[in-house]
Amino acid sequence: MGKSTGFMEIIREEAEERSPRARIQDWDEYSSPFSDDTLKRQGARCMDCGIPFCHTGMEVRGVASGCPINNLIPEWNDLVYKGKWKEALERLLMTNNFPEFTGRACPAPCEGSCTLAINEPPVAIKNIERAIIDKGFENGWITPRIPESRTGKKVAIVGSGPAGLAAADQLNQVGHSVTVYERADRPGGLLVYGIPNMKLDKDVVARRITLLRQEGIEFVCNTEIGKDVTAEELREQYDSVILCTGAQKHRQLTLEGSDAKGVHEAMEYLTASTKKRFEEFDADESYIDVEGKDVIVIGGGDTGADCVATALRQQCRSVVQFGKHPKLPSDRNADNMWPEPPNVFTLEYAYKEAESVFGEDPRQYSIQTKKMVKDEEGHLKEVHTIHMKKEKQADGTYKFEEIPGTEKVWPAQYVFIAIGFEGPEQPVLKHFGVTTTERGRIDAQYEHYETNLEGVFAAGDARRGQSLIVWAINEGRGVAKRVDHYLMGASVLPA
Ligand SMILES: Cc1cc2nc3c(=O)[nH]c(=O)nc-3n(C[C@H](O)[C@H](O)[C@H](O)COP(=O)(O)OP(=O)(O)OC[C@H]3O[C@@H](n4cnc5c(N)ncnc54)[C@H](O)[C@@H]3O)c2cc1C
Ligand code: SF4
Repeated sequence: MGKSTGFMEIIREEAEERSPRARIQDWDEYSSPFSDDTLKRQGARCMDCGIPFCHTGMEVRGVASGCPINNLIPEWNDLVYKGKWKEALERLLMTNNFPEFTGRACPAPCEGSCTLAINEPPVAIKNIERAIIDKGFENGWITPRIPESRTGKKVAIVGSGPAGLAAADQLNQVGHSVTVYERADRPGGLLVYGIPNMKLDKDVVARRITLLRQEGIEFVCNTEIGKDVTAEELREQYDSVILCTGAQKHRQLTLEGSDAKGVHEAMEYLTASTKKRFEEFDADESYIDVEGKDVIVIGGGDTGADCVATALRQQCRSVVQFGKHPKLPSDRNADNMWPEPPNVFTLEYAYKEAESVFGEDPRQYSIQTKKMVKDEEGHLKEVHTIHMKKEKQADGTYKFEEIPGTEKVWPAQYVFIAIGFEGPEQPVLKHFGVTTTERGRIDAQYEHYETNLEGVFAAGDARRGQSLIVWAINEGRGVAKRVDHYLMGASVLPA
């Protein structure tokens, strides 16, 4: 423990953010790293607790608490406080293949379960993590680690999101020959076509892919398994196959008028917007531009927030985001105690940006969309809503009831639907013949990852359902260990 009284003397500082008004003029990352002095001070706040809940990654009442990949947080906090950056990097890379992704975009369940968070703001864990890895790249400490020998075993991974990438990295490091198949034009999964550039710069993703290539992993893009290459071909050519195809089947909203021109799925909007940023963007590809338009985002989650931030950068005339649930409290409720992640009101980057332009938070709570109205040419003209009351029932479930007299009409030319994901897309799973759960996810047990097919494994959102980068890394590492064991009869890989 660096400074035994640090937690009493030093207050938490937030990473610097560029001014919301300035940053919506571009697509660059909105947050900036701490200075070295600040990092040292923030690292000194860590108490090196006897039981550091921040790195447990356990489930408390069905919710993940602490870091799912068990990052050795108190250890690297201490090393950062002492200025031992290279040692901190070594510790970080023992548990996390891609801290540059999580250090930018993880919602940091570790911070909610930091012991300081019982009565103080937690240690700034995520920002320290980002600084360690960024320093590693800046100082040239991260170089390709090319395996000294090869096992002669071949593994195919379908899908190049964080689960597929983590599995590929682990298996390559123990000498297996890994090929990652991706239907998109570049690797990264939702790290590229999902999470917007403002949260995770695409050059940061490309830098990691280049490194993985240099280390010997082969990427085959623009190739859809089940169409361009069959499951039989893969199973014949490789000793093992891992399905990391994600959970991108979105929930549909079928309402009167929802077929109007201007109504899109959130992912369609976000993907097109990211594609436009790449140099080789083809002008004929679908791009949705909301400049000067009134935009409504339906769905109160993070994907919706990313749509708000994107619309602001395109200079929309107005933007609001509808959520079904009431506004969260500013402090934890009695049924949401530490070390569970806090279920409290936060002002995310997109909402700060909207406030800076329109003077208010764009979120509308407890609201239900009733119908959409088109003009004579089929273009969206307005959206009709009503407010809802959420009431707890005797059996603990919640019931939503419309409140008469709260009907409202909103002018809108664009609606983006961000009401979540149902699970994995089914065609590729059917093509392979893997069994699925009632919810359509690949039926493979956590920590085992075996499907019903010999030599075929599954990990990430395709197995777990839409989740987080950090869980995808957890599963990618876990499946790699199982596949290594399957191929070699034993494994030296960590779980
Ligand atoms: C808009 C959005 C924002 C998000 N923001 C965050 C965030 O800020 N922080 C966070 O922690 N999490 C965030 N998430 C969640 C996170 O991105 C996912 O949980 C994570 O990417 C899942 O990783 P994965 O590898 O399992 O799947 P994915 O990242 O979904 O990757 C699956 C890949 O498989 C490919 N594929 C599918 N079928 C085939 C096939 N037949 N052949 C070849 N390739 C195929 C797909 O093209 C895709 O590239 C966000 C999600 C969305 C949608
Ligand atoms: S990966 Fe996420 S949960 Fe783990 S230490 Fe980093 S920010 Fe915290």
